[in-house]
Amino acid sequence: MNPKIKILLAEDNINDVKLLEKEFRKEKLDYDLLVVDNESDFREKIGNDKFDLILSDYSMPDFDGMTALRIRNEISPLIPFFIVTGSINEDTAVKCIKAGADDYVIKEHIGRITSSIKSAMEKYKLNLEKENALNALVESEKKYRNLVDNLSVGVYQISPDGAVLQVNPAFRKLIGFVEDENCKYSPESLKMFSAWDFYPDNSVREEILNAIYEKGEINNKEIQVYDLNKNLIWVSISSKARYDEKGNLLWIDGIMEDISQRKMSEAELIEAKEQAEAANRLKSNFLANMSHELRTPMVAILGFADLLQAEIENQEQKQMVEMISRGGRRLKNTLDLILDLSRIESGGLITDVSPQDVTPIINSVYDFYRIIAEKKNLKFEVETGSNLVADINAAMLEKVLANLVENAISYTKKGNVKIKAGTKKSEKGNLVFVKVADTGIGIDENMYDLIFEPFRQVSEGYSREYEGTGLGLSVTKKYVELMKGTIEVESRLGKGSTFTVYLPGCADVSQAKKSNYANNQQPAGIFKGIETGKRILLVEDDESNAIMISSILRNVCAYDAVDSGEDAILKCENNKYSLILMDIGLQGISGIEAAKKIKSLPGCKNVPIVALTAFAMVGDRERILKEGCDDYISKPFEIKRFVTLINKYLNS
Ligand code: ADP
Repeated sequence: MNPKIKILLAEDNINDVKLLEKEFRKEKLDYDLLVVDNESDFREKIGNDKFDLILSDYSMPDFDGMTALRIRNEISPLIPFFIVTGSINEDTAVKCIKAGADDYVIKEHIGRITSSIKSAMEKYKLNLEKENALNALVESEKKYRNLVDNLSVGVYQISPDGAVLQVNPAFRKLIGFVEDENCKYSPESLKMFSAWDFYPDNSVREEILNAIYEKGEINNKEIQVYDLNKNLIWVSISSKARYDEKGNLLWIDGIMEDISQRKMSEAELIEAKEQAEAANRLKSNFLANMSHELRTPMVAILGFADLLQAEIENQEQKQMVEMISRGGRRLKNTLDLILDLSRIESGGLITDVSPQDVTPIINSVYDFYRIIAEKKNLKFEVETGSNLVADINAAMLEKVLANLVENAISYTKKGNVKIKAGTKKSEKGNLVFVKVADTGIGIDENMYDLIFEPFRQVSEGYSREYEGTGLGLSVTKKYVELMKGTIEVESRLGKGSTFTVYLPGCADVSQAKKSNYANNQQPAGIFKGIETGKRILLVEDDESNAIMISSILRNVCAYDAVDSGEDAILKCENNKYSLILMDIGLQGISGIEAAKKIKSLPGCKNVPIVALTAFAMVGDRERILKEGCDDYISKPFEIKRFVTLINKYLNS
């Protein structure tokens, strides 16, 4: 059913109103009628209400059809408007139609009005739909424009010849477009700019345009452009070409984001990184120099102390020398820990792990600390199970256990220290564990995490009760983790502590590398007796070191000593040596250069050269061996280890 037609009728004659209504009823038109007979009522009704149709008499005492038509045109131009009049005047009819009336009905022919109303209604409906669609379009265009206008990235549209067609406020801000009295923004005001002028570099512009023409778009291209004040700014642009159906380029849409701040931060970061790297290089250099400078004098201190201890009979003097030795060793341990930490932190530590039996390593640590524990009257025990094969690096595990045992002894005044090793099954497979337990001062539970941090100790500050660097456990933990193991602590204040290291066990015990660890064990006495028929060349420019090493060599075999690489070469040209001990940091030509020259002398290719050096930083060993030396021992060294090494080459 069609809805009721709401009609506004301007008519002063009640009979004419009745005539119309009669006609409507006859034609079964469903309608609502409102009648007015003057301009102000007409204006009020049309302004306040919604009508589907306006009918007006042409001439009334207080009003007329042409005025009504004007008002309709002004307020609601879409509503169909009919003049209904008694006068037949063609000119008037034409005038009314020209002025916008939809029909001109003469009362005499009132019978045709209903069909005319119906067709006018159809037209009106169509017009209304059109207008609604148009309004919706305008509304969505407005929404879209709002969205674009509120974006914080610049949006632009340019023609194929570079004319700037449209931009949003963010774009205007980005390029420094200032609106003032003389220059208001409108798409017209942009016509004076060419997009091509923004590019400082034509080749970049060509590159971008080519990419757009070829691929139809570019994405996140970071370039520098000029703003309107000719300042260079960094932007990231993404553009897309728009074509018509025939493939002709219509325009280019794009977004432009200001990335100057980010670029500045990046540049600052790069500079900061370079500075940090330079500082790190300086630190590494400093550490290398410090290491060298501290180790060199310790060769003499520790070496002579060891030698004197073996020779001195007087107990009091023996004790004094032992104190020198202990102090020196403590200094060396601290230095080793600092170097270990710097090696770990620089990431330069190569962890070479393989399946090995951990028992010989435990025994070696036990042997080393047995005498120290005994001196403190501590009961020191070791208990190991069988099949203790784990994926480990022997040197690292030795340091780990040495640190734990050293702490256990240091922090225990009476009672016992025990090393216990065994295997344990876990979700991750078989584990080998090594426990170091003591009956010492214990550690507060709140401190468990802290003690594994570098430089942290339970008692800190000048009133520290126990000495130490606070580095041992952090290095220990890092070594354990490098071997893919874990470390745990359990402790009770005043009762003692237990540190447990878990290492990945090796499922196939038969794979275990035959540990040559026992071979490194130090012989019971320092010297085995003098080798005859062999001669060593010692190249050492530090006088006290040369004297100390000579004192050792004297007990091993015949030797010559020189203090420069040049003299070493001369000696080798005229003598045959079984072994050359070469300091690396020599004045004049370096030990490495001297070693290379010696190896190239006739008959000297196979003479073993052992680098004897205080260069003990990360990578030094590998570098020196790669440069042509056959072996390496870092200064200061244990005399027993040194002698073992010499004997290895003399007897091979
Ligand atoms: P250092 O022993 O050189 O101070 P560590 O890193 O080896 O440094 O140890 C950190 C701290 O942990 C020590 O200062 C000590 O307070 C505590 N600690 C370590 N081992 C034990 C232990 N066995 N008994 C009691 N306290 C310990």
